[in-house]
Amino acid sequence: KANRMFHPADSVIDVSGVKVGGNEDIVVIGGPCSVETRESLFQIAEGVAAAGAKMFRGGAYKPRTSPYAFQGQGTLGVQWLTEVREAYHMPIVSELMSIDKLQEFDENVDLIQVGARNMQNFDLLKALGTIRKPVLLKRGLSNTIEEWIMAAEYIMAGGNENVILCERGIRTFEKYTRNTLDLSVIPIIKQKTHLPIIIDPSHATGDWRLVESMSLAAIAAGADGLIIEVHNNPECAWSDGAQSLKPDKFKTLIEKGRAIAKVV
Ligand code: PEP
Ligand code: MN
Repeated sequence: KANRMFHPADSVIDVSGVKVGGNEDIVVIGGPCSVETRESLFQIAEGVAAAGAKMFRGGAYKPRTSPYAFQGQGTLGVQWLTEVREAYHMPIVSELMSIDKLQEFDENVDLIQVGARNMQNFDLLKALGTIRKPVLLKRGLSNTIEEWIMAAEYIMAGGNENVILCERGIRTFEKYTRNTLDLSVIPIIKQKTHLPIIIDPSHATGDWRLVESMSLAAIAAGADGLIIEVHNNPECAWSDGAQSLKPDKFKTLIEKGRAIAKVV
């Protein structure tokens, strides 16, 4: 179902009115790694909206490497995200980690993220095939393009064809960056599938100083959008502060990105 051969036209995924893919404008999603407090969420959302982002991200359930690290605000976090959506008119993106929260996400979240660590959680993918909410499917930490497309196929096989792919860097021997951003997937995914693809330069690099250049490169390579971690006070972020942009840098990035999008 994802195969370009049987579906030559680019798919355009409608996320509560924001269109992703095809010849639509690039879609930039911004927001904190984790939903922290209601107050900080609203402060960040104000900057993200003012910067010109089309959607707002925030993790309410967090797949942390350590069980002792902050695990997320859960249902309360989802609730605050819906309040941000009403206040700033941005669809919200959040990660679903387990099937038991499927209904909560279907009812409250506009774009359901499947994190890298769950890319091959086949039961979760099948469950997402039973609903019609758009899904943002991140590439696994060490997964091939073929495996990634097959993961999308699991969701689509169930009847949910609203899938957006997201490259977020893969594991290599290189330790200077958190992951290695595989930009070559953009033209490959475009060739093999009709699905939109967006890039997450924040998790791909792990370093805010690299986020702008990788974002611009991704747009030049034909990406349909970006998902970027933004925080008002990255030094104090509860997760992923080192890779989070402040709103002013995020705004500049969007302006430059739009200029590049015009010429590709
Ligand atoms: C995230 O988006 O905060 C996240 C945990 O991403 P990934 O699954 O790509 O590591
Ligand atoms: Mn993160």
